[in-house]
Amino acid sequence: MDSSLSFSFELFPPRTPEGVAKLPAVIGQLAAVRPDYFSVTYGAGGSDQDGTYQTLVAIVEHAGVEAAPHLTCVGSTRAHVAALLDRYREMGLKRIVALRGDLPATAMSASAPGEFHYANELVSFIREKHGDHFHIDVAAYPEMHPQAQSPSEDFENFRRKVEAGADAALTQLFFNADAYFHFVERCDKAGIGIPIVPGIMPITGFANTVRFCGGCGADLPRWVRLRLEELEDDKPGLQEFGAEVITRLCEALLRGGAPGLHFYTVNQAGPTLRLWKNLALPVPV
Ligand SMILES: Cc1cc2nc3c(=O)[nH]c(=O)nc-3n(C[C@H](O)[C@H](O)[C@H](O)COP(=O)(O)OP(=O)(O)OC[C@H]3O[C@@H](n4cnc5c(N)ncnc54)[C@H](O)[C@@H]3O)c2cc1C
Repeated sequence: MDSSLSFSFELFPPRTPEGVAKLPAVIGQLAAVRPDYFSVTYGAGGSDQDGTYQTLVAIVEHAGVEAAPHLTCVGSTRAHVAALLDRYREMGLKRIVALRGDLPATAMSASAPGEFHYANELVSFIREKHGDHFHIDVAAYPEMHPQAQSPSEDFENFRRKVEAGADAALTQLFFNADAYFHFVERCDKAGIGIPIVPGIMPITGFANTVRFCGGCGADLPRWVRLRLEELEDDKPGLQEFGAEVITRLCEALLRGGAPGLHFYTVNQAGPTLRLWKNLALPVPV
């Protein structure tokens, strides 16, 4: 396996006491395969701000693996974002996933009130305050962001984030490798050379997969949807089918030159480690 490839695991701050209790074990199991880093989501408007911080601390203290906070800017102020960046720098963190965040359901347009409107402004702000201290990842949408007017406008908006100083991109989840390859080719033609790492969502159920796809506009292929629905009451069968579909997707992506994989673990070690094993990714002794 090419050692320049980047493999990362995304966690979210647990919202229940059971989730909090389970997290150290999940981090420990995932850390055992030595990913390049863990990232930790952050609620738009700072809803799980403390949770993000606590989860980062748990990773730094227990995993010995680099931790990268997600930082959303929608509904936030420059002063607040500046304070968070200082706090992360003091913790020794060097990597940020910079995002706009989802707008409240009541928002009337794709823009939002507040001091930041789009992720490119956040990227510029981080560079202005901290120069090259942070490695900045931004989001990319091979199947287009659901609020974008068109694929071309969305692409131009993606370019703005790169020009503002993003070092790499993590994609929204998708199931069609061709959508990813088309997006990467478009970047190549436009002279955008940053690594675009596919975001991989393990399949663990029918209802949650449909919900995740509905939430972010990812296209769930009809044949996969039908088969998941059929297997809904057969958990082992569904998990086996889901792992097979996602393993093949990952194999195709890596074979086609993807610079790594970013796994949306949904705070479960098992499904991601199953993919890791299927892909014969290295496990340190
Ligand atoms: C890897 C990954 C991790 C994520 N983690 C989180 C998280 O931790 N917390 C969370 O709340 N959400 C998270 N999200 C979801 C993300 O916040 C949403 O998808 C959000 O709606 C868009 O964020 P963005 O950073 O891509 O926004 P932007 O890049 O700002 O794009 C948002 C929309 O605005 C358009 N746009 C962008 N710039 C401009 C401009 N200058 N003028 C006009 N239109 C513009 C774009 O085309 C797009 O339609 C994550 C998504 C991904 C892919």
